[in-house]
Amino acid sequence: MDKKRVLITTAIDYTNDVIHIGHAYQKILADCLARYYRGVLGKENVYFLTGTDEYGSTNQKAAEKRGVTPKEHVDEISSKDKAELDALNLDYNRFIRTTDADHRETAQKFFQKVFDNGDIYKGSYTGLYCEGCEAYKTMSELDADGRCLLHPTRDIQKVEEENYFFKWSEYSDFLKQLIEAKGFVLPEGKRREMLGFIEQGINDLPVTRPGYKVSWGI
Ligand SMILES: [Zn+2]
Repeated sequence: MDKKRVLITTAIDYTNDVIHIGHAYQKILADCLARYYRGVLGKENVYFLTGTDEYGSTNQKAAEKRGVTPKEHVDEISSKDKAELDALNLDYNRFIRTTDADHRETAQKFFQKVFDNGDIYKGSYTGLYCEGCEAYKTMSELDADGRCLLHPTRDIQKVEEENYFFKWSEYSDFLKQLIEAKGFVLPEGKRREMLGFIEQGINDLPVTRPGYKVSWGI
């Protein structure tokens, strides 16, 4: 039988600003898990990934505010983030940056493959957009004042734009089947939450941003 192999990843952090003490928690937990699995499965069977998420309007705006180019901005923040993680003595296999050449290439290939498969189409969309999340929000994801629960200091924008969409709705049954298997998502409470989310009905997802709004992207 093949030996089990494990991939552990942290969230990769937005480079709008340098990470802070609050980020240490999940990184240290992930590092503990990686060290544990290396002990149990052998070093070669464990891959621990962390890094920075560097494209999009949040990063572009942060750079504009500082009067530097997006690339200069993300280079600086990313290297500061990495120094913070190294100060915690995290034993990661790779610190990935979404601006890395191999990541750019893989993202493009992946997008093309999904497009060729007929799962991406062009459409227009009116929605409530949170720049902090870089995501559209439903009314249930906003507080009583119409603000993002995660970014209560930012204004939610009503946006209409032409985008390419991923046919996420067509994968409802597939996802449901996966997640219905007990133990597929842990803890159990989160598994139920995900099932509840799918049962509400999944909407297709805009997977591009118009170039006139965001030039800093793949
Ligand atoms: Zn938000």
